Amino acid sequence: MNKLEESCPQGAAWPSVGCGEPIRDPVVLQVCTDQQWHTGCLSCEACHCPLGEHVNCFLRDGRTLCRSNYAW
Ligand SMILES: [Zn+2]
Ligand SMILES: [Zn+2]
Repeated sequence: MNKLEESCPQGAAWPSVGCGEPIRDPVVLQVCTDQQWHTGCLSCEACHCPLGEHVNCFLRDGRTLCRSNYAW
């Protein structure tokens, strides 16, 4: 009856904060210690521009922001 451990055979796959799907990509964007994103679904919460291809990603009050919105 106690078989819950078998539900994760490939080891840890973090759920993406952006889409909720487990991240199995070789590259995981770690915004802070407990927020992981796919490179394709990390976007600015203010203007929704994609942030995955840019290193300029900022975190304020738990929100991911691009450089221009963070500077406000
Ligand atoms: Zn995702
Ligand atoms: Zn923005």
